[in-house]
Amino acid sequence: MIPESIDARLAAVVGERQLFVGDGIDARYRSNRRGQIISAPGFLVRPGSAEEVSAVLRLARELRISVTTQGGRTNTVGADVPEKGAIIISLERMTAIEDLDPLSMTLTIQAGATLQLAQETAEAAGLFLPLDLGSRGSATVGGVISTNAGGLRAIRWGLARDMVLGLEAVLADGTIVRGLKKTLKDNAGYDWKHLMIGSEGTLGIVTRATLRLRPIPKSTMTALLALADFDAVMRLLRELDVDLGGQLSSFEVMWNDFYRYVTVANRAKRPAPMAEDHPFYVLVEAMGGDPEGDPERFKTVLMAAIDRGLVRDAVIAQSGRERNDLWAVREDLLEPMTALLPAFGFDVSVALSEMARAAALVTDRLRAKFPDARIYTYGHAGDGNLHFVVSVGKGGADTEHQVDEAVYGGIRQIGGSISAEHGIGALKRDWLSYSRSEGEIRLMTMIKASLDPDNILNPGKVLKLESEAA
Ligand SMILES: Cc1cc2nc3c(=O)[nH]c(=O)nc-3n(C[C@H](O)[C@H](O)[C@H](O)COP(=O)(O)OP(=O)(O)OC[C@H]3O[C@@H](n4cnc5c(N)ncnc54)[C@H](O)[C@@H]3O)c2cc1C
Repeated sequence: MIPESIDARLAAVVGERQLFVGDGIDARYRSNRRGQIISAPGFLVRPGSAEEVSAVLRLARELRISVTTQGGRTNTVGADVPEKGAIIISLERMTAIEDLDPLSMTLTIQAGATLQLAQETAEAAGLFLPLDLGSRGSATVGGVISTNAGGLRAIRWGLARDMVLGLEAVLADGTIVRGLKKTLKDNAGYDWKHLMIGSEGTLGIVTRATLRLRPIPKSTMTALLALADFDAVMRLLRELDVDLGGQLSSFEVMWNDFYRYVTVANRAKRPAPMAEDHPFYVLVEAMGGDPEGDPERFKTVLMAAIDRGLVRDAVIAQSGRERNDLWAVREDLLEPMTALLPAFGFDVSVALSEMARAAALVTDRLRAKFPDARIYTYGHAGDGNLHFVVSVGKGGADTEHQVDEAVYGGIRQIGGSISAEHGIGALKRDWLSYSRSEGEIRLMTMIKASLDPDNILNPGKVLKLESEAA
């Protein structure tokens, strides 16, 4: 009997129209964000259910073909890049909204739906999904869970992990694990979903999730503030936390180098909201439940901070349009950052008390190697998350390694994390030991070996296993 081809067996699972082979796979699944083809997968399947995902995994395991799941492909660490000949599972057909429970304030949704669809679905029911990222239009529910995304409001509502009440996932052996609970409290044994969250598709494939929603805020107040030094930034953070009565939702800090560069680069699109010579800028947003009283209180608190000399200047948004313009300073980065290429981006975290030292140390270390380096620093200051964009005038693996060493070496010295929220993927894997102890990496390796003994789930990401050391 002639053995059935892999194509035929995959087609039998997902249907011929949902299977693509080799060069027949559209370039967007094989390329990076600059459109360069960077991988050569063997197959792309677009399953329509957890059962189909399960059958694909059973087949992959039997044939020892690796599987990489792709969501919106917006990650920045090469986490969605398949091995040569691998199967890509794209969940883009699994976008259904399955249940919105207004009383329990939960949304159950398939993993291929975009974050924006989840947000809009909640909003249509008068509820609110606080998770928010610049990539919301493309990033998927499965992707944000598998990377434990943080984003712009983590300071108040936490990361993706804090919004997942229940999960359905498929394990490497094809087992479908259903745990779509709607309860915040559930201490019945191990909380396995937390192993899946943030595991970047290396421990299982998320197919559905039940997300925790909140009441929709009735007021949103946004302001851009200028400050003299980082001490003032930290004092302001503490004061706003108290004075705004728990309404502080975003606190984005920008060093002068970042603010000046982005506002000048985007000047043709919109004028800078304030002068470009302040050492620090903070974009503050507060959300509350009293549309009449909240804006007044917000203004009073900020005016008091100006009177005390803590804040040097402030622009408070008076309309949705002005709010968008203020956020654009922080978010409209595509063209300014593209103009810097080749450049390297970093997403690290340190204790709040170490943020200023971390930024200075990393800058010094970079300048010691590359005196003319252009370094742009910003971050989600409320949770110790720093971003650096570094351009040293050349690219290439050697240069990248030197730049990485300068940044991650500094972060290691300070006891921070080499990845605050973007994950490890393939690109940061070699640096994992800079922020995880030997014992932690051993434990991670044991978990991986137990859940995916054949290493078929997204190999080459997060951990360097002995079997792939060569
Ligand atoms: C403009 C921009 C702004 C961003 N801002 C932020 C930010 O503020 N905070 C932040 O944390 N990140 C941010 N990111 C990074 C990125 O958007 C997040 O990492 C996002 O969570 C990735 O989701 P995705 O659907 O695109 O996943 P992908 O990039 O497709 O995949 C990411 C990883 O998850 C795995 N995966 C995807 N879906 C599943 C699934 N269903 N089951 C199992 N594994 C799966 C993949 O295999 C891969 O390992 C930003 C990116 C861009 C381009």
